[in-house]
Amino acid sequence: MGKSNPTLYQMPVADIEFLDRLVDGYYAIDFNWNIVYINDKAAALAFSTKEKMQGRNMLKLYPTMMNMPFGKAVARVMKTRNPERIDINFDRVGRWYEDYIYPTVYGISIFSRDITEQRALTDNLKFLAEASKILSTSLDYKTTLRRVAKIAVPHIADWCSVDMLDEKNNLQLVAIAHKDTKKIRWARELRKHEPVDMSSPTGSPKVMRTGKSEFYPVITEELLRASITDQARLKRTLGLIKELGGLTSLIIVPIFLQNRPVGVMQFVNADTKRYFTENHLKMAEEVASRASLAIENATLYKSVEEELSFRKRLEDELLQTQRKYDALVESNIVGVIIADLHGNISQANDAFLRMIDYTRRDLEKGNLKWTELSPPESAEADRNAVKDLMEKGRATPFEKEFLRKDGSRIPVILGVVMINPQTTECIAFVLDITERKILEERKDEFIGIASHELKTPLTSIKGYVQILERIISQTSDERVKKYLKKTNTYIDRLNSLIADLLDVSKIQAGRLQFNISEFSGAELVEDGIDSIQYTGLKHKIVKKGRIACRIRGDRHRLEQVFTNLLNNAIKYSPAADKVVVYVKINKDLLTVGIQDFGVGIPATKQKDIFERFYRVEETSREFSGLGIGLYISSQIIARHGGKMWVKSKKGKGSTFFFTLPIKKKV
Ligand code: ADP
Repeated sequence: MGKSNPTLYQMPVADIEFLDRLVDGYYAIDFNWNIVYINDKAAALAFSTKEKMQGRNMLKLYPTMMNMPFGKAVARVMKTRNPERIDINFDRVGRWYEDYIYPTVYGISIFSRDITEQRALTDNLKFLAEASKILSTSLDYKTTLRRVAKIAVPHIADWCSVDMLDEKNNLQLVAIAHKDTKKIRWARELRKHEPVDMSSPTGSPKVMRTGKSEFYPVITEELLRASITDQARLKRTLGLIKELGGLTSLIIVPIFLQNRPVGVMQFVNADTKRYFTENHLKMAEEVASRASLAIENATLYKSVEEELSFRKRLEDELLQTQRKYDALVESNIVGVIIADLHGNISQANDAFLRMIDYTRRDLEKGNLKWTELSPPESAEADRNAVKDLMEKGRATPFEKEFLRKDGSRIPVILGVVMINPQTTECIAFVLDITERKILEERKDEFIGIASHELKTPLTSIKGYVQILERIISQTSDERVKKYLKKTNTYIDRLNSLIADLLDVSKIQAGRLQFNISEFSGAELVEDGIDSIQYTGLKHKIVKKGRIACRIRGDRHRLEQVFTNLLNNAIKYSPAADKVVVYVKINKDLLTVGIQDFGVGIPATKQKDIFERFYRVEETSREFSGLGIGLYISSQIIARHGGKMWVKSKKGKGSTFFFTLPIKKKV
């Protein structure tokens, strides 16, 4: 023992032996504040030793003591002789003590117990209770986590933060609490500029990989220097810690979602020299697991909510669609029918019933059958539509006629879509095109009348020009002859245009008549070629193949078809210098092909060119014409029992084919 003081109260030896072994701190002072006895534990608390302290005077050792709550309490007990209890925070070691100050016969004695753990436990429990309450209330998990982090500071930790994985699997800071708001801002900024390196072997990335907590109860600079070998990283880490305000103890716990780590919660002790214990770790894990639950509930709730709102949207959309459909059906602007492919009509709106002049009762009695409502001429269009519906689920809009109750006909255009392939139920939209048909007829009629009216004076002009030619043939003025010849050519061209127009109106009215005779197929082709070739053009017409056959039909009309195709071939190949004509006999069919090396026809337009007045837009400006030649030709060929089609490539040229049935070989 240290210097002995003869005036000092001598403790009984038995007591000393007992007190020396005490785990708690114990010391006794006399009325003059001299230390009569102090055990090792209590001396250690003062960062000293028993030997150094025993016999010394407290007031001299700690001159400021009387200003502190502890000194004041001791003075009070000295005076009042009433025992007191006081909690003391030893900031330097980050621990809490509970001191009992008793009056004794020689002065007072102080009994000092370390209650750091106990206090931590109470704090932990309090935190856990509060955190659980927060986690079970709100449904927005980010807000919840922020609130949890907030209550962890300062009793549990100096820092508390939560990071969650984003879509790119990087940790994003979602919550952070620190007693110093400047530090929060700093941490946020830092994270923005320097994302967490997910490949780091320690810290949160490790927790994310293993799904296990990381616990560093005591962190010292030496420890860091020993564990981080990469100097640059060490320097960065130490700099970070300095900015943090120190790092003495650290807990990182994982947050799970469906058994997969999706985030981490970090508890940090910085400058207070507080150290986390196993208890803190347990508490942290408990909070994290409750947070996991809260997130799971929140996402579950969210997905249920999303599902519900999705369904609601779907229902709304369905309702909207239904309303639109109802509006369409009820508006009766177009006829709407629901029918299967066997021709049973199950539903029809008033507009359709009005069109065909049947009643709703007729429909309900099942009297309406597609086939019975369709004239034989529409059968082919119907068959094509059924084929389309079976193959593609919808039919390209097509024209047909329906039979009214009184047997009269109504022209319609139809769009049909399959709505149930199992039952073959289809929905058809029917548009009455009577008006359009009337207008078309009127137009055709007009064309017929106009061309007829034009033809008469033109014939007279032609006659007079011929007379003029004859009179002038005596003169030697070549210019007059030349101009008359030109006039004749233009008259011929005008004539053929008018003749074509007349043909169209005749075809439309079903009045195109044929003068049937029998003649040689080879002659038909050769005469056709000659008539064109000798008009003195630059194209050479080359014939390939030889035929010998007889054809029955209107020779004049068939020559018209052939020369029309030859003229087109020449017209649409201004840069070429030849046209090839192929002839071939196959069984009882003559096939003629006229090939040019001109502008060609885009694939999408090839089926339209046989329509009345149709001209390919891309070339219509460059080449004049009415768009009726091919229509007339294909009609003439069809009336002779043949077919007409085209093979063409844009920019490369076209080959038009037609077939004709032959009578017999000669
Ligand atoms: P047009 O008086 O316009 O020539 P047609 O009925 O003869 O009328 O032809 C219809 C359309 O088909 C033409 O406008 C043209 O676009 C296209 N066509 C016809 N023949 C050819 C061809 N040999 N080469 C390229 N396009 C052609």
